[in-house]
This record gives sequence, C-alpha cells and structure tokens, in this order.
Amino acid sequence: MQNQIKQINLLLIEKFNIPPRPEIPPDPVDLLIATILSQNTNDKNSYRAFQNLKSEYKSWEEVARLSRSAIEKYIKTAGLGKQKSKAIKSFLSFMMEQKGSISLDYLKKESNEKVIEELTRFNGIGVKTAGCVLLFSLRRNICPVDTHVYRILNRVGLLKTTSPAKTFEKLNTNFPENIAHSFHTNLIRLGREICKPSKPHCLQCPLLEICNYENKNLIKPKSNKINSFMLLDNVK
Ligand code: SF4
Repeated sequence: MQNQIKQINLLLIEKFNIPPRPEIPPDPVDLLIATILSQNTNDKNSYRAFQNLKSEYKSWEEVARLSRSAIEKYIKTAGLGKQKSKAIKSFLSFMMEQKGSISLDYLKKESNEKVIEELTRFNGIGVKTAGCVLLFSLRRNICPVDTHVYRILNRVGLLKTTSPAKTFEKLNTNFPENIAHSFHTNLIRLGREICKPSKPHCLQCPLLEICNYENKNLIKPKSNKINSFMLLDNVK
C-alpha cells in the first residue's frame, strides 16, 4: 500500500501542487475546537463560527465559564449548534476541572496512540478530530480520514473498508514518511472539487488512470468551482 499512497500523492501534487502550511502550527485547543465546528459544514462557515467565539473572549478559560446555550449563539453559522456547543462545553469544563486551565500542550510529548486515546475520551470528539490535532497541530505524519478521504480511497481501491474509522486505522499503519499533510489536504480538495459524492467529474481527475470505481462519470462538467481554502491550516 505504501507505493500506491506515494503514487496517489504525486498525481495529486501534479494537479494541485504541494499545499502550503503555516510556519507556526495551530494551537492544539484551537485546532480541536475548529475541527468540532467543521463537522457537516463548509470551511468558510466553520471559520466564521470559530472567529465569532474566539474574538469575543480573551481565553478558552473565559469561554469555559459560558453556558452551553451561550456558546451555541456564537457558533450558529457552523450549524448543528446544540451538538457542537455541547461537545465544546464538555471538553472545556472537563479541562478546567481536571487541570485548572485549558491547554493540550502536554500532548506534544505523547505517542500518536496516546493522543488518540486522550482526546477520544470526550463526548463528541472522535478519531477524525484526534487525527486532525495530530497532523495539523502536532505535525505528526498521520492522515485523518473524513468522508472525502474515506470515499475517494474506497473508490480508487486503495483499501476496502466500511467506515472512516476503519480506513484511518488501516491507512495509518506504516504511512509513508513526510507526505501525510499533502496527501490529506489534496484529497480533501479532490473530494470537494472533483470526486464529489453523487457525481464525480472523472474526466478532470488526476487519479482516473489508477481508479477502480465502477460508476465513473465520464461526461464533461460545465464548470468547476475551485475550493482551496483549508480551515485547519488557518486556525489562529
Ligand atoms: S476517477 Fe472519478 S471516482 Fe475515481 S477518484 Fe477520480 S473522480 Fe473519483
């Protein structure tokens, strides 16, 4: 599988280039909260919700003192307000109770497995969110698996799994060094712009020659929106 991952990565880079990364990685707490907000919405809406919440308060400790419903008001542009505010509130309250402040810096010295174990203890925080903290904030060579990554890799035939969590586990066993960020980020872009859930634009796809998907759509699309804004590299 390693060689196939490398081949997919190169084909994606030919199409989209190497995605940029900020010099300073996002803070793990910021990243965690932004990832919770990003579920089932686009990056622009979740970025706005994140900014609404963060710009009102000096620290996450202050946000922790808000009620769940007050948090919900700030994040409504991201949708699923009740569910997301509950996950944020329960994470912040737990941190305050257990550690007296809100920081995930202690995770920097932990193994990937330990980081996943620590973060998935919280309600509303799954393996995908933990994977994003690992990749974007802790700069580990880990590829998080959301619905885009899950769909594309199963279509291409890199692996056959029945859930994003199972894809995450298989994919990240022995992932080729140093390419997780470009592989992940370019797959997200491919999923948004080309390999869409119901009607992929296969004629525009850099993976067409190696893709095993049986229902390829070989009709030329009328137009194609470019969507290169990546929330999780822009969280601050
Ligand atoms: S060829 Fe079509 S189905 Fe296969 S990855 Fe590309 S867009 Fe998706």
